[in-house]
Amino acid sequence: MSSVPPGPAQDRPGSPDGLRTGAQYLADIGNDGRQVIYDGEIVRDVTTHPAFSGAARSIAGLWDIAADPANRELMTYPSPRTGKPVLWCYHIPQRPEDLRPRRRMIQRWTEHTFGLMGRTPDHVAGFFAGFAACPAFFATAGQHYADNLTSFYEFARDNHLYISYALAPPQIDRSKPSHAQSDPTLCAGVVGERDGGIVLKGAQQLATGAPFSDYLFLSCIHPQVPGDENHAISVAIPINAPGLKIYPRRSYATNAVTEFDYPLSSRFDETDALITLDDVFVPWERVFIYRDVALCRDQWRKTPSHVYGNYQAQIRYATKLKFLLGVMKYHCEITGVDALPASQAALGEMAALASIVDVMVEAQETRATVEDGVVWPSRVALYSVMALQSDINPRLIDLARDLSGGAMIMLPSSRLDYDNPETARELERYIASPGFPSKRRVALLKLAWDLIGSEFGGRHQQYEKFYGGPAITNKLHLYRNYDFAAAKQLAEAALTSSEP
Ligand SMILES: Cc1cc2nc3c(=O)[nH]c(=O)nc-3n(C[C@H](O)[C@H](O)[C@H](O)COP(=O)(O)OP(=O)(O)OC[C@H]3O[C@@H](n4cnc5c(N)ncnc54)[C@H](O)[C@@H]3O)c2cc1C
Repeated sequence: MSSVPPGPAQDRPGSPDGLRTGAQYLADIGNDGRQVIYDGEIVRDVTTHPAFSGAARSIAGLWDIAADPANRELMTYPSPRTGKPVLWCYHIPQRPEDLRPRRRMIQRWTEHTFGLMGRTPDHVAGFFAGFAACPAFFATAGQHYADNLTSFYEFARDNHLYISYALAPPQIDRSKPSHAQSDPTLCAGVVGERDGGIVLKGAQQLATGAPFSDYLFLSCIHPQVPGDENHAISVAIPINAPGLKIYPRRSYATNAVTEFDYPLSSRFDETDALITLDDVFVPWERVFIYRDVALCRDQWRKTPSHVYGNYQAQIRYATKLKFLLGVMKYHCEITGVDALPASQAALGEMAALASIVDVMVEAQETRATVEDGVVWPSRVALYSVMALQSDINPRLIDLARDLSGGAMIMLPSSRLDYDNPETARELERYIASPGFPSKRRVALLKLAWDLIGSEFGGRHQQYEKFYGGPAITNKLHLYRNYDFAAAKQLAEAALTSSEP
């Protein structure tokens, strides 16, 4: 098995300017020795295995969009090191207006996946741009850590890397910190040092997209306590490193009989995975934080990494909600309830919630601040939506279900029912609406079900609830960042003016 990282962009066939094409991406990740465990076996090649191939093709489509010369300005800027085009998601914004090209790039990608893939390569790229914006933060533990971070960031940016991440210890016993579990090597951490690097053992969750990525970023975002030093690390590991295994949950593409019946499960299931490490060697050059509980906690707060990464997440969410609204409007037109005031009010409420998310993305830009020469999208705008996403998203899904009645259920068993002329005749007569032939009506309603009701749709509800940690942590971010002083001033003014 090889642990060789993907080659430098200029060595790749495909795009002449070194941009990564979809075909090149599939060639890079296929059969490279990564250990993805599925149904008790190691998957030889995720690009051809039925559980993963649909999603791999969708991700390849993202690289093709980025490599298309027609999209050069939309998707890329010149690398400060090589002058060659690199993705905007790796850019370190210095002026608030720098956020706009970043958003346009991310938005173009989210439209390709309808906002249904959360951890596309632009997500963790944002985290690394945020880290690289603040090398001094990493240098507090030694200049070499800052140098490691900068050098990996440049390597990732200039080689168009797709990085996934695992930041939470496995849910073995949440009542105890990592070091106090029944075995202190259950949660991923350092078990030794070897010539030139460190050795890691244990498990970490919940690496969405890991089977499709080039590198894993492993660190910890959960609260840690003194004693957890071995787990307080930040490192980058090639996804095919010896000893690293990826255990994805069951792929929803596996049960998607046809693309017609499961148009989203079959193409956009990015999967979520447990990572296990069995004496995985990490060279010092890929270690950014080492056995430091305070730095491990502060990397998310004292650098804009968490904000850049989740700015991408909110652009994606805004696109997904627009898609949901489009599907439901279409649905109401097909079933003829669009003219009813009750349906219009439900669609109006959905539009209100979707618009709040959309407008708050813009507010992250218009209320951005520049701190030590680096742009921070507004934390209040970001965390306000993230804190309420656990309430907004179920409400949207509930409204969609209310609007639907039995429409998403009362559908033929599969596309094959149309292959039999006799059953096709009946379907065309009874499952059709004025202006919508049977197959088109059924296709739309199967799309709606896959979006909100299928196993894939159910996972999405869990994703929107937890992708940024539990709601409580986002409320605490807001508690730390909201301008309570200004609010208290108003209260103070009222108190003073009403005093006798
Ligand atoms: C679909 C999906 C995809 C994800 N993708 C990724 C990814 O790509 N990379 C990654 O690193 N992580 C990812 N996450 C993981 C996510 O970061 C964690 O699920 C999240 O941080 C919650 O941790 P947990 O699942 O261990 O739940 P826990 O932390 O165990 O929480 C479970 C419950 O306990 C409550 N709880 C926990 N602690 C407290 C507390 N101190 N006070 C009060 N209540 C508390 C929570 O509110 C929640 O209700 C993903 C999660 C999901 C569901």
